[in-house]
Amino acid sequence: STWFDQAHFIPPDAIFALTAQYLADPFPQKVNLGQGTYRDENGNPWVLPSVQKSREILSQKLNHEYLPIVGLASFRQEAAKLALGPELFAKQQDKLATCQSLSGTGALHLAGLLLRAGRASRPKIYIPEPTWSNHHQVFASLGFQCETFQYCNPETKGLDIDSYYAALKAAEPNSVVIIHACAHNPTGCDPSQEQWRELARIFKERQLFPLFDAAYLGFNSGNVDNDAFAIRLFIEEAKLEAGVCLSFAKNMGLYGERVGCFLLATSTEETAVKTQSMLEMLQRSEVSNPPAYGAKIASTILADATLRQAWHDDLITMSDRIRSMRRALYDRLISSGAPGSWEHLIRQSGMFGFLGLSPSIVLKLREQYHIYMAGNSRISIAGLNEQNVEYVGDSITECLK
Ligand code: PMP
Repeated sequence: STWFDQAHFIPPDAIFALTAQYLADPFPQKVNLGQGTYRDENGNPWVLPSVQKSREILSQKLNHEYLPIVGLASFRQEAAKLALGPELFAKQQDKLATCQSLSGTGALHLAGLLLRAGRASRPKIYIPEPTWSNHHQVFASLGFQCETFQYCNPETKGLDIDSYYAALKAAEPNSVVIIHACAHNPTGCDPSQEQWRELARIFKERQLFPLFDAAYLGFNSGNVDNDAFAIRLFIEEAKLEAGVCLSFAKNMGLYGERVGCFLLATSTEETAVKTQSMLEMLQRSEVSNPPAYGAKIASTILADATLRQAWHDDLITMSDRIRSMRRALYDRLISSGAPGSWEHLIRQSGMFGFLGLSPSIVLKLREQYHIYMAGNSRISIAGLNEQNVEYVGDSITECLK
């Protein structure tokens, strides 16, 4: 007999399982377009030069003491300034609660804990469909009822803005809506500035709480200010309370260091003080205090003008390479005569390309061509390089013909 008679088997996480399958494949020309991790032009992990420099500076004075419960103060401050921009930060800082988190996932989880604890009744969570595979799990595991709305038009493989507007208008007031701040995962389709304005207006009208998942600030366009447009608009212009879940996994390449921050822009100083104290208690009961090394690396970069410039250069390096590989794959699909339209691929932005292939084609590419991508045909563009992009384009064409 076992204590765990209610335990049931849960299949492994699809994307981590795909990575394991790729690693076990002995085929020399195998291509990994699964997990969203940046790769350099030779297909290797890339330690950003700005991060390398920050590590060198840190190594001279590094100790391994505990951080405070809510994390490294300089990191929290720099992260908030980065997301809000210096002007909005200055205006908002007394109405801001911040807590360092276990990367973006931990920030979402903390947000969930606070949203659950901070109101008399538990709000519903509205999540775009499709979305990052972990959103439902994070919020369902906290006992939230999750609702979905159609985000992408399967015909055009583009944003279905009318469905988005309609979903918000029909949503229960006082609900939470998960918003990808930029570089929507997996579709790579974001609202235009005009559409963001209309969305903010509807959030206000319907009394919805925007929870921004900001895992790609600066990584999407190469410019943090562009990528933070929606966050700043909602808080500054629309005067909405908002949560922002920041990750430094992609934009600093600090994946495994788990560097993130949850920011809450509130409407009163009193709420900021109270929610700050709740975040401290929630964090204490869960992880006691967050990991130190990655936060020190990030704050050293953000607080130093020279290092920060070097980081901006690194963001350009990564986003430019991704953009050029997106173009190269598109060109190869066209020149090899892949049936159908591929305009969506170059209209999309960010780390991923959403190809719109059927599950059977995805499987065929994996089994016969050793090209690994998520089951929904999302590819991590960073896995492409000059050596493999033609092979990938030609293989997709062959599969479709
Ligand atoms: N949100 C989205 C949309 C993501 O794509 C990711 C990373 N794949 C995350 C959050 C969180 O990642 P991490 O916890 O590694 O920061």
